[in-house]
Amino acid sequence: MISKERPFPIKIQKLQVLLLRISENHPKTKFIKENLSKSLAGYNGEKSIDYYLSLLPTKSFYILHDLRLLINGRYFQIDTLLLTSSFALILEVKNIAGSIEFDSIFNQIIQKKNGLEIALPDPIIQTGRQESQFRLWLHEHHFLPIPIRTLIVISNPQTIIRSNDKNVSQQVIHAALLPQKISQLNDKYQKPILLDKDIRRMIKQIKKLDTPLNPSVLNQYHISREDIINGVVCEICGYLPIDRVHGYWYCPTCKSKSKSAHLKTLEHYDLLFGNEITGRQLKDFIMISSPSLATRILNSVCVESRGKGKGKVHTLPFKEK
Ligand SMILES: [Zn+2]
Repeated sequence: MISKERPFPIKIQKLQVLLLRISENHPKTKFIKENLSKSLAGYNGEKSIDYYLSLLPTKSFYILHDLRLLINGRYFQIDTLLLTSSFALILEVKNIAGSIEFDSIFNQIIQKKNGLEIALPDPIIQTGRQESQFRLWLHEHHFLPIPIRTLIVISNPQTIIRSNDKNVSQQVIHAALLPQKISQLNDKYQKPILLDKDIRRMIKQIKKLDTPLNPSVLNQYHISREDIINGVVCEICGYLPIDRVHGYWYCPTCKSKSKSAHLKTLEHYDLLFGNEITGRQLKDFIMISSPSLATRILNSVCVESRGKGKGKVHTLPFKEK
C-alpha cells in the first residue's frame, strides 16, 4: 500500500519556471539547464522502480516516497521507505548511465561514460548513514527497534555494475531484482515486531514530520528580481507576455483567448518568490496597470491576507508539496 506518494519535485518545477522566465542569454541558463536535466534523470529513475514495487502484496507492505526528516538538528532524506511489521527497508535509487565500479578502498564509485571517467560519492556510505539516522529517529519517537536494511537500486537497466567486493552485490542491485530481494528479506525477517496500530502510528508520525526541502531558486542561483521576465504566459502556445484585452487574456501569437491565464502565472510567482504577494507586485508581474483589476484578481484567488491599503499582503493558495 502506498502511504505517501512520490510528488513531482518542487525543485524541478522551480527550475522549469526559472528557465522560462530568464533570458536564453542569461549567464546562468546553461548551468540551470544542466541541473534540471540531472534532477529529471533522478526523478525518472525513482519513478521507474514503481512498477517493481507495485508487484508487492499491498496488505503487508507500506511504501513511503520522498521523505525528509529531522534528527539531532539535521535533516536526512530517503527516496523510498518500505515498512512491514518485521523490518524496514530504505531504497536509494540511482540513475547513473554507462558503467560504474565500486571502489571500497577509496569509498567512491567510478563512472565511465562516453570514454570519460568521473568519481562519484559512494552510495553505500550514504545508505549506511540513512540507516543509522532512521534508527535514531525511531528511537527518539518511541518506536520499537526494528531491523533496518538498505538497498541501492540502479534504475537504468543498461548500467554495468562492477565490483570485486562481494558485499557490494548484497547491497547494490538492478531494479528488476527488487521484488526478489524484498521477498528474500521477507523470508529472513518473519517475526512480527510491530502491530498494525504501531505501523499506522509510525506512518502518521513520519508524514506529519516530513519537511520537503523548498529553497528559493533565486537565492540559490544568485538571480535578481530584475532578471525575471514578467507577464502572463499563454496556456496554449507558451508565449510570454500575452495582452489584456476587453476582460480577456489575448495571445498575439496563437490568437487564443483566456479568462484565467493569470492563474498559471501566479503559480509561477509562488514558485519563484514565495506565496506572499502585494497588489503592486501582482501588477508588475502580470503587467497590468489597473489597481482595481489587481484587487479583483487578488480577492478571487487569495483567501488570506494581512495588513491594509497599499501594504496589504495576500497569501497565494498554491500548495508547496
Ligand atoms: Zn498562444
